Amino acid sequence: MSNCAIVGVNWGDEGKGRMVDLLSRDFDVVVRYQGGGNAGHTVVNEKGKFALHLLPSGVFHDGVMNVLGNGVALDCESLWNEIQEVSAKGVPVTPDNLRVSDRASLLLPWHRELDGLEEARLKDKKYGSTKQGIAPFYSDKYQKKTVMAGDLLYPDKLWARLEGILEWKNLTLERVYGAAPCTMESLREWVDRFGEKIRPYICDTGALLREAQAKGKRILFEAQLGSLRDLDFGIYPYTTSSNAVAAYAPVGSGLPGGKIGKVVGVVKAYSSCVGEGPFVCEWFGEQAEKLREAGFEYGAKTGRPRRVGPIDLVATRYGALCQGATDIALTKLDVLSYLDEIPVCARYELNGEQTDDFPFPALLDDAKPVWESVPGWKCDISGVRRWEELPQAARDYVLYVEKAIGCPITYVSVGPERDAIILR
Ligand code: GDP
Repeated sequence: MSNCAIVGVNWGDEGKGRMVDLLSRDFDVVVRYQGGGNAGHTVVNEKGKFALHLLPSGVFHDGVMNVLGNGVALDCESLWNEIQEVSAKGVPVTPDNLRVSDRASLLLPWHRELDGLEEARLKDKKYGSTKQGIAPFYSDKYQKKTVMAGDLLYPDKLWARLEGILEWKNLTLERVYGAAPCTMESLREWVDRFGEKIRPYICDTGALLREAQAKGKRILFEAQLGSLRDLDFGIYPYTTSSNAVAAYAPVGSGLPGGKIGKVVGVVKAYSSCVGEGPFVCEWFGEQAEKLREAGFEYGAKTGRPRRVGPIDLVATRYGALCQGATDIALTKLDVLSYLDEIPVCARYELNGEQTDDFPFPALLDDAKPVWESVPGWKCDISGVRRWEELPQAARDYVLYVEKAIGCPITYVSVGPERDAIILR
């Protein structure tokens, strides 16, 4: 079996965590390759209900090695808190099943603070950040103004570098935002408190992955967010600050020469979107309220109500292309069971013309949805486990979506539980 990536095709929250939880039992290593603790994968299995933010969803399977690759935003504080929370619920996370790349850059306490300060400065023009410090972190990473996890292993060199970075960062905190400066004392306290906890997990995960590859072990790459939030290919500037596409997985994991044979693009049977930015297929009012309630669309990290609407075939086809998806997992089909008719955004209307192509971000605000609808099935499908047992209307909806996206839907999810899945 080849390596596999599980990625989001839309705006995030498609149900990637439940797919990784399901599929990771067939893999030896599960790697997170980008992003930080700013999103949440919800996983429901025999051990309980978990909201994972930074930990790979493979932690639930014995014998699986989980890796946080060099591409992630490594927030030692959030990671340590998450390790403790998950361990307290009976899922041990130790250096035996989690390793952190020595080349993962550290998200430092001021990144979160700066995120909040900048959103406050932007007021009604804000990006809708989760305020976890991700954008300030990635800009500092690319300016080479942070340190790597491996630096925690060399304290003398670490402190010399951190001193210079702190001095530079205080210029921004004080002169740009008029905020209080950070002190070396508080930084030392933070590193002693959280960096120390993460030290035992740090290693050269590139070497670990190369060795796994050489031994024929199977590697699963787990993404955060989705194509439309990808820094380069998404709805810039309402994107995240890293690359959520599968093509980045080998780089962000520490296996730049690695090959990915299978890319499972996760698509929700309808649309949801957290935060600001254009969202062509959006529903409002009572219609939106009903769908939000049916799908329980509230942020796993922030509890914010998500914006919702019917599936957007234009955005989804584009998202699947960006991912190079070989398979689609269609999730939350059960949520649509309450509708008499299932609306779909089949095309966009832009400048008086209909289009199947996803427009350049600057044009998205002018795009209007062109709706079509297909019959609903109006019955509970959450207990169905075989394709043939799905009502004809539900199968027709899946086939309609499959044709429009142009990629085979090989998994249909009808509930959050691990086994609530139909394999085609
Ligand atoms: P992720 O970040 O892509 O993993 O997605 P989230 O965890 O934020 O959102 C997916 C939510 O939908 C979670 O609460 C899951 O438990 C839930 N979920 C996943 N698949 C299904 C499904 O097929 N049906 C239902 N009803 N819920 C699902």
